[in-house]
Amino acid sequence: MTIPALAELREAVWAANQAIVRAGLVTLSFGNASGIDRESGLMLIKPSGLPYDELRPEDLVAVRLDDGGVVGSELRPSSDTPTHLVLYRAWPEIGGVVHTHSVAAAAWAQAGRPIPPLGTTHADHFHGAVPVTRRMRPSEIAGEYEAETGSLIVATLAGVGLSADEMPAALVASHGPFTWGRDAREASDNAIALEVVAAMAAQTFALDPATEPIASELLERHFRRKHGPTAYYGQGRR
Ligand SMILES: [Zn+2]
Repeated sequence: MTIPALAELREAVWAANQAIVRAGLVTLSFGNASGIDRESGLMLIKPSGLPYDELRPEDLVAVRLDDGGVVGSELRPSSDTPTHLVLYRAWPEIGGVVHTHSVAAAAWAQAGRPIPPLGTTHADHFHGAVPVTRRMRPSEIAGEYEAETGSLIVATLAGVGLSADEMPAALVASHGPFTWGRDAREASDNAIALEVVAAMAAQTFALDPATEPIASELLERHFRRKHGPTAYYGQGRR
């Protein structure tokens, strides 16, 4: 692959795959991170079933956004590739997608419950409750299962009236979390934040099942510190 942008993307997507392992979000080989180069229309994603500790940047598989075809690789891309492609096609503003079976977030997915915003950790990353999809129908499970999963995520976000930027995560019922962001790094950061927020919410409800969501003013203040035209948190992008 001689496209210069792809060499940089290869390192970034590899780093995102390592980051979710380091953060303890990956059991065995469940999980995958991808990133896309919109210019060439190529997505790089983890190969299917390859142990993370053996993964090298050059192992990442390039897949065409338009038809899912593999470009220049002997390895098969992650079996979740069609889900990633559906999200990239639906939301041109995103550049990275991460999927894990991280325990706390997957627990909310298995319970079929959205994660309500209870504090500022949540509000810093997610503009409201992290939505959960409905359970998949037998026809969806029997059909193009992975692509149907992507379509269900897109429909779920539309259903709660939030953009991919406002809500960079969704829980797939009976399955686990997907997160995304402007690039692979942001998608893995959101996966890490989601896991912490899911664990905090479960512990909060264990202490007090009647806990109310964060005040809307405080949610707005924290979300807008980091997102959109009025953001002022951190040092900007370096
Ligand atoms: Zn999965």
